[in-house]
Amino acid sequence: DEMDVDTIWMDGEFVDWDDAQIHVLTHGLHYGTGVFEGVRLYDTEKGPAIFRWEEHLERFYESTKPYEMDIPFEPAELTEATVDLLRRQDLEAAYIRPIAFYGYDTLGVSPGDCPTNVAIAAWPWGAYLGEDALENGIEVMVSSWRKHSSSQIPTNAKTTGLYVNSLLAGEEARRNGYREAIVLNKEGNVAEGPGENIFLVRDGELFTPGLSESILDGITRNTLITLAEERGYEVHDNVSISRGELNTADELFFTGSAAEVTPIRQVDNVEIGDGSRGPVTEELQQAFFDLVERRTDDHDEWFTYV
Ligand code: PMP
Repeated sequence: DEMDVDTIWMDGEFVDWDDAQIHVLTHGLHYGTGVFEGVRLYDTEKGPAIFRWEEHLERFYESTKPYEMDIPFEPAELTEATVDLLRRQDLEAAYIRPIAFYGYDTLGVSPGDCPTNVAIAAWPWGAYLGEDALENGIEVMVSSWRKHSSSQIPTNAKTTGLYVNSLLAGEEARRNGYREAIVLNKEGNVAEGPGENIFLVRDGELFTPGLSESILDGITRNTLITLAEERGYEVHDNVSISRGELNTADELFFTGSAAEVTPIRQVDNVEIGDGSRGPVTEELQQAFFDLVERRTDDHDEWFTYV
């Protein structure tokens, strides 16, 4: 088909892309009861490699816990299925989407005897917000929508239903001419983007909202903290960041498996720093791409070569 991929792994089998279908009374469709991951395969100097697969897989299983969902496959089986799927389709740089969800049985909010269905798809993918965004940064809008509080729904689980909030915030931003949103938490502090964590640079130090700020514990966030500390930066990763601190930041950037490291050059009507990618962002972004494209031997443990 158009994306040059023809196979999806579903419930233990490889099926044709067009046959990867579910029933319309699937629980997850009605109640948002799915968990998922977004993972990148990089075309590295040493061949195609999945970046931090083990951490994504761990988060995938952990996301099921509040929902008592039982993935009927061992982690090693999902790893094998994924590697096999990527090889079969000769993928070099791709996005990988594992998903598990309550399936089809008698419909009701209680999942009862609904099975847990599991699928893994992968397709070629480039920069999520575009190459231009990586170099020049993006304009973002502080959304009028607040992020759901972790007292309302576990925000550290990557649950499908949570993403209606991301859609509302992101589409509001785009309707208003911005590329992406920043979402504040219930307390009015900075939480994250619709699908990104956020970092602030001030006086040569890094700040990112702590895990109690209703954020997803991002794997790219963790990667950037590690890379920054290795380069001697002080990283404050357990802080609250007020809305006003966005305006006075020297630099801001988003992180995410999709967004990678994307500079933010404007928030609402306010230019950040001089309105372009800042030097700390550029250094860490370069370190990130050197890492994921394997122009360094550092952190080889983070790569699953396919
Ligand atoms: N926050 C949210 C809400 C997300 O959806 C994502 C993307 N998974 C992130 C942060 C970034 O997480 P990661 O770096 O693990 O992709």
